[in-house]
Amino acid sequence: MSTRSTQPATPLLAIHGGAGTLLRSKMTSAKEAAYLAALQRILLAGQAQLGAGAPALEVVVEAVRQLEECELFNAGRGAVYTAAATHELDASVMDGSNLQAGAVAGLSTTRNPVLAARAVLLHSEHLMFIGAAADAFAAAQGLEQVAPAWFGTELRLAQLRAAQGEARGARLDHDVETQRSGPLDDARKLGTVGAVALDAAGHLAAATSTGGMTNKQPGRVGDSPIIGAGCYANDATVAVSCTGTGEAFMRICAAYDVSAQMAYLGLPLQAAVDSVIQLKLPAVGGSGGLIAVAANGDVSLRFNTEGMYRGYARVGAAPVLGIYGDD
Ligand code: ASP
Repeated sequence: MSTRSTQPATPLLAIHGGAGTLLRSKMTSAKEAAYLAALQRILLAGQAQLGAGAPALEVVVEAVRQLEECELFNAGRGAVYTAAATHELDASVMDGSNLQAGAVAGLSTTRNPVLAARAVLLHSEHLMFIGAAADAFAAAQGLEQVAPAWFGTELRLAQLRAAQGEARGARLDHDVETQRSGPLDDARKLGTVGAVALDAAGHLAAATSTGGMTNKQPGRVGDSPIIGAGCYANDATVAVSCTGTGEAFMRICAAYDVSAQMAYLGLPLQAAVDSVIQLKLPAVGGSGGLIAVAANGDVSLRFNTEGMYRGYARVGAAPVLGIYGDD
C-alpha cells in the first residue's frame, strides 16, 4: 500500500496495529469488522484533528493513546505478558520539527505509555526513562496509574501459556497460537501500535507503543522505545513507526535507515522503505513492517509478513484500510 502525493502536501495520518502471520482461516467476519472499525474510528478522529490544524505530534500521540485503549492491540490494555506473567510496556514519540524525542521502557502501572513518552519529551532534560522510575515520572506528571493487572486480558494470558508450552522463547504478539486465536495467527503475530503524521504546517511526527513480545524475559526491551530503531521523525525526510522482531529492527536501525537512505542517497520514500523491509530486515532474520509518511506527503505501509493491521487518511479523503498483503 503506497501512494505518491501531488503538491502541496495534504495533511495525513497513518496508523498500524502490528504485523504478522495473518491466517484468513482464523479471521471471522466479526473479528475483521472489529479490527477495521477500530482502525477507521482512530483514523477519522486524527483526520479531524489534522483538518482543524492540530500539530502532527498531538495527532500521533492521540492516535496511539486510542490504540493503547483498544484491547485488540498489543499496547496498553491488551498488552502481552512477559515470561513472569507480568507486563512491561514501552513507548516513544518524536517531533520531526526539532528532533526532540521522549521514550519509556518497562512501565507497569502507567495507563497510557505514549503519554509518558510525550511527557518525557516535553518536561524532561532526558530522553528516556525505564522501569519503576519511569512510572514514577509519569505519575509525577499527573498521568493516570493503574494496577498492573489492568493491562491483562484472558486472551493474552492464554497466548503466554501457549508460548510457554511450546518452550520456544519470546514470541511476537501476533505469533502466539491459542484456541482463541485472533485473526493474525496468534502464534505468529507481531504486535505493537504506531502512528505517523504530516500536519498542515508541514511538520512530521511519529509515535510507537508496545507490550513487547509474549514470553519475553523480564527486563528485555525491544525496538519500539528506541529512537532510530522503532520510531523516528525528521521534517527533512520522513516519519516512521515500526512493528516486528525488535532485536532485528534495532540491529539495522530500521526507522533511521529509511530517513538516512532518503537523505544520503536521495531515494524516494518507497525505495527506502522497500530496502529496509524487503532486504535489510530479512538479512538479519527479522520480520515485520513499518508505516512512513514523507515530507512531500508520500505514504508507505509495508511489511514482509502476511499482513499488518494498517490504514491512512488524508484530510478530505476517505480512509484507506488494510489487514492482509493483498488488500
Ligand atoms: N517490536 C516489538 C518488540 O520487539 C514487538 C512487535 O512489534 O510486535 O518489542
